[in-house]
Amino acid sequence: MPRAEIMNSIKVKAMTAFLIAGSVPMIVSMGVINHRTQQNVLAKAEAGLEDTANMHGKLLDDHIQAFRDYAKVLAKVPAIIQFSASHAQGEPVLDQVLVNAGSELAGFQSEFWGEAHHMFIVDRDGTVILSAPEIGWGDGHLTVEQMENSAGPHTSKVVSGLDYSGNTIINPMLDDCVDAEGVENYHPLVLNPIRDESGEVLGLVVIELSIDFIVDLFGNNFTYGATEKVYVTTNQGHRIVSEKVGLESTVKIGSRIIEETANGQMVSGWFESADGVEIFGAYKSSETYPWIVCVEVDRDEIQTPLNAQSWFFIAISAASIAVFAGAIVLVGRWFWGPLKKVVAAANRVADGDLWHEIEVTRTDEIGQLEGAVDAMRVSMKQQIDHLDALVAERTSELEYANEKLEIDAEQDRLTTLANRQKLRLHLDEEMVKYHQDESHLVSVLFFDFDRFKVVNDSLGHSAGDALLCSIADRFRNELRKTDLPARFGGDEFVVMLAPVESPEHAYQAADRLVKIFAEPHDIDGHRIVSTASIGLVIADKRYVEAGDMIRDADAAMYEAKLAGKNQVAVFDEKMFAAAKRRQRIEEDLSCSIKNDELCVMYQPIIGMESMDVVGFEALIRWEHPELGMVSPVDFITIAEDTGQIIEVGAWVFREAVEQLVRWDEQYGLDETHSMNINVSKRQLIHPEFLSMVQDVLHSTGIKPSRVKVEITESTVIDPRHDMSVVINRVRDLGVMIAMDDFGTGHSSLSLLHKFDFDILKVDQSFVQGMEESREMSAVLHAIIALAQNTGMKVVAEGAETKEQVICLISHGCDMVQGYYFAKPLKAVEAGQMLNRPLGLGQAA
Ligand code: C2E
Ligand code: MG
Ligand code: MG
Repeated sequence: MPRAEIMNSIKVKAMTAFLIAGSVPMIVSMGVINHRTQQNVLAKAEAGLEDTANMHGKLLDDHIQAFRDYAKVLAKVPAIIQFSASHAQGEPVLDQVLVNAGSELAGFQSEFWGEAHHMFIVDRDGTVILSAPEIGWGDGHLTVEQMENSAGPHTSKVVSGLDYSGNTIINPMLDDCVDAEGVENYHPLVLNPIRDESGEVLGLVVIELSIDFIVDLFGNNFTYGATEKVYVTTNQGHRIVSEKVGLESTVKIGSRIIEETANGQMVSGWFESADGVEIFGAYKSSETYPWIVCVEVDRDEIQTPLNAQSWFFIAISAASIAVFAGAIVLVGRWFWGPLKKVVAAANRVADGDLWHEIEVTRTDEIGQLEGAVDAMRVSMKQQIDHLDALVAERTSELEYANEKLEIDAEQDRLTTLANRQKLRLHLDEEMVKYHQDESHLVSVLFFDFDRFKVVNDSLGHSAGDALLCSIADRFRNELRKTDLPARFGGDEFVVMLAPVESPEHAYQAADRLVKIFAEPHDIDGHRIVSTASIGLVIADKRYVEAGDMIRDADAAMYEAKLAGKNQVAVFDEKMFAAAKRRQRIEEDLSCSIKNDELCVMYQPIIGMESMDVVGFEALIRWEHPELGMVSPVDFITIAEDTGQIIEVGAWVFREAVEQLVRWDEQYGLDETHSMNINVSKRQLIHPEFLSMVQDVLHSTGIKPSRVKVEITESTVIDPRHDMSVVINRVRDLGVMIAMDDFGTGHSSLSLLHKFDFDILKVDQSFVQGMEESREMSAVLHAIIALAQNTGMKVVAEGAETKEQVICLISHGCDMVQGYYFAKPLKAVEAGQMLNRPLGLGQAA
């Protein structure tokens, strides 16, 4: 397991918490117990040492007190009193008095020799006046001579530190107690005053106590037990025995002991000796003499067992913690073992194993957890089973939908003929066969049916659909099994004839179909004739793909339509060249603006009343670097199909309006001259057309009514768009609307009412036809009258001769445009016409 995971595990965390929670109080309590125990041990040791100190203090006190009593007895001896009195009064001491006193003194001295040392008498000044020698005076036959021959050792010496106020003698000292090295070397003195009958002090009895005896009194070398030792110091801390025997004279007890033991106090515990050594002892000052009884043990004797005890407690604590930790691990295992099993089971479920039942092995919370994980497994399994069923259901639905789609993908829904994709697919296959074997000829017929739009518009869509289905039925009935008719959309049908024996067979088949479709259809009781225009293509080595053949069949169909419909046109080299040219134009048009290849020519429009130029029509020209001058008739439709008309048209619009403004400035035109601009349907319905016009009007500042938008009949007839709304929006900008090429399409007069045009431009075919046909002339006359009655101005297009112009004038036409006056001119030439007055005989 990675380290981070171990640290994060609840098991490790819980065990650590238990260990800390359990061991810290254990360590603390062990520490407290250890401390208390140590305190007890120390207290016991102190008590023991204090007992020893008390005991020895008492021994010492008793010993001293005994000799104080002896001194008292001695001071009451009459011979001593008499001797001291004679001495005090300055009288000569009688021999007998001297001998008696000496005997008494020597007698006492010899009796206590060992326990005590010398005994002597001092006068009131402290001078020793009688001192018995160790031997010689105590044999009972003392004489004056003996006394004179063996004077006592302390005679004439002085005892200092005497106090006669009472019996208390404070630290008395014989004057020879300091030896040559300056070391104090004395016997403690016990004194008692000698008084006469009146109580007056005559002198003192002095008994020197034996230090050796005190040493014996305390035992051998003052040492008890392993390291316990007892000794006595002076109140200043000097060790008496040392001073006496001259050993360890530098050892002194600490100042704290000296201070605290004053007035007979007992102190015990840890102290520091005068030279800084840590010692454990009990100290008690004597009540009878200025001494301190000291009982000490070596530091180690106390400290070693204490340390051992501490180690014992540490060992016990460590062992307890180890046992505790072991117990936690055991409990942990007992608890986490089953938990791990549950985790493993849950992981199996997470990994997708929903089939293994998770056994509930116990009744506690872990057992409940096992049960919950198993319930989760069962629930997941049910949900997945449910989902599986749902997916299976959806899959079969999808399969069905796909099958349907496949059919739809290959079939035209309305007619159930093949669709474009299917025909291309089959045509491709047939073309492959043709390329392998040239005798396996294939032919493609592209159909366009007349009047389909009219049926749709006049009888409704269902009638239109019925017409299409009827057409499809005829295909089904008339074609061979190997041929494939397809509907490409709208009223466009394509038929693949395969195999075809010879091109002639294909022509015959096409001719036959033209005849068949010339027969009327019965649609909802209406007899409807919808003739076919057929473009025919025969397979050729240069055709590689189905698309190529279909494209050319389409082009041929267009020719058939142009040639008057209801016929077959066979695709030939001329059409092929035209198709190629069309493709080229399509490709190059996108760069034409950028390459500055487009320009606008202006054809003047002449007012018939004034015979002056009243405006111009802007007509686009494209000077292709290789194809030469391309007519708008050739490229405008392509631009419309590809959408490039938006960009091209906007460019023409701006260019034409700006040119009018330039002429305004150049020739000082008033606002009567206008600019006619052709606008395609695709431009008109483009969402940005209005803003484009607005922008041009705004940036040039031109009066909007001077701009005349020319739209054709086919533009306004649209079942999908209500063009009146679109046109009215343009008119709302103040721009005029002209109906262009009137007379080429349906020439519906009702349109003129519906759209409320400002200008009507009569197509040149009318102008050119009126000379030949009186009927046409009459119709033209009626149209002009009608248009003028509804407030429109009429412009006649394509007037090429003087006669035509005269005729138009006679019909009341307002304006004329045509080669008679001027062809479309470059801007400079067109502008020059503004300067030139025109008459009927002055064409450009
Ligand atoms: P249109 O708008 O009807 O323009 C008049 C066409 O008739 C022009 O052909 C013009 O040169 C020609 N024309 C004028 N007077 C006579 C005449 O006396 N005799 C003969 N035979 N023809 C005459 P063009 O310039 O080739 O333009 C053809 C068509 O291309 C235009 O017909 C118009 O529909 C379209 N077109 C031209 N420029 C544009 C343009 O900038 N935008 C759009 N959308 N279409 C344009
Ligand atoms: Mg026009
Ligand atoms: Mg026209």
